[in-house]
Amino acid sequence: MVFSAGRVHRPATLDALRAIIAGSPRVRVLGSGHSFNRVADTDGALVSIAGLDRGVDVDPVARTVRVAGGVRYAELARAVHGHGLALHTMASLPHISVAGSVATGTHGSGDTSGSLATAVRTVELITADGEALTLDRETDGERFAGSVVALGTLGVVTALTLDLVPAFEVRQFVRTGVPLEVLEEHFDAVTSAAYSVSLFTDWSAPRFGQVWLKHRVDAGSDPSEPDFPWGAPATEPLHPVPGMPATHCTEQRGVPGPWHARLPHFRAEFTPSNGEELQSEYLVPRRHALAALRAVAALGPVLAPVLQICEVRTVAADGLWLSPAEGRDTVALHFTWIKDTASVMPVVARLEAALEGLDARPHWGKVFTTAPAELRDLYPRMADFLGLRESLDPAGRFMNGFVHRLLYED
Ligand SMILES: Cc1cc2nc3c(=O)[nH]c(=O)nc-3n(C[C@H](O)[C@H](O)[C@H](O)COP(=O)(O)OP(=O)(O)OC[C@H]3O[C@@H](n4cnc5c(N)ncnc54)[C@H](O)[C@@H]3O)c2cc1C
Repeated sequence: MVFSAGRVHRPATLDALRAIIAGSPRVRVLGSGHSFNRVADTDGALVSIAGLDRGVDVDPVARTVRVAGGVRYAELARAVHGHGLALHTMASLPHISVAGSVATGTHGSGDTSGSLATAVRTVELITADGEALTLDRETDGERFAGSVVALGTLGVVTALTLDLVPAFEVRQFVRTGVPLEVLEEHFDAVTSAAYSVSLFTDWSAPRFGQVWLKHRVDAGSDPSEPDFPWGAPATEPLHPVPGMPATHCTEQRGVPGPWHARLPHFRAEFTPSNGEELQSEYLVPRRHALAALRAVAALGPVLAPVLQICEVRTVAADGLWLSPAEGRDTVALHFTWIKDTASVMPVVARLEAALEGLDARPHWGKVFTTAPAELRDLYPRMADFLGLRESLDPAGRFMNGFVHRLLYED
């Protein structure tokens, strides 16, 4: 994403950050800039807090970590792993910032794994009046639930405290050629076959070219392979997009390795060429998963010319007001498109029409055309969120045109 902000500020101290907030009628924070729409953009001051603080403080007894908002997951994961601890989930890419990912409800996959935001226990913000505000899951229940996935509208998130779990090992297996019919008959068995399951298809046919199974190896308990009697084992490492080299992908073929080197699809040490694509994603209630998959499969010929790959994942329900998985176990249908906005956007609109009636919530950080009023109706706690936002930032200092339209316009 290329940003149109008048000026990018990189404060080195909290006082410098406060001065920027006080001096600008409009402020937005930029994480690692991996969103595909204008959610992080501003016509005022764009702030990067990457230089503010790089703190990652692990508390091994409480099993928590306090992490500065600008830190990226790859760096966080290394620090946490050094203490024998882990995050419960990771997104496909470890290069994204913690605060930026949490702000949009970014997720990985797993029937029992909530999004990255569900690990958050405490949010530390600098609000529009320059005050430091800490919201805690235990003591600020309601306001906390509105403050985690908040699209950067409540203030600058300077640090987050996250829950950790004991470190674990994962073996990643890839199966090829699984027909959609298998999901029609065994949906729950497929998505629960491993700790994290991702299904990839280009919709040239109603079948999944690849199924990635991230199988947790808990000492003495689990079998060494997932129970997955469908498709054929891959004979070589694969990239989710057919024909692309697997060099940047995390280790496959069942080689055991630490959670942070298997849960993402892409290796931390390589930088994927994320400028070469657009992305969309729709999160539907799990009960609508098959209807959604059938609707998308029927659109195959329309999707194929602009689609690089579609990925299907599952996300456990949460209680965070603006989380796309709020209140419902979720199936996420992700689309990596070619980078040709003019050709892609009409297809996105067709896709949204096909998903109508299935309560599909678009990913906040990807491209979509859902009408704002319709979008707001998909979130039962939207009015509470708007009340919280207005109480913390009555002048709309942390709004931008994109977010204003989604939250207030038709
Ligand atoms: C190759 C690739 C793979 C991806 N894989 C996944 C995936 O597996 N799952 C998934 O769900 N998404 C995925 N995404 C989307 C991506 O994770 C989200 O768009 C995420 O929000 C990007 O984080 P970021 O740090 O780049 O945030 P940005 O895009 O920089 O910002 C996102 C939002 O967060 C706000 N923000 C950032 N930092 C702060 C802060 N300190 N305080 C307050 N607000 C802040 C911004 O203002 C903006 O509103 C992927 C994107 C790419 C490019």
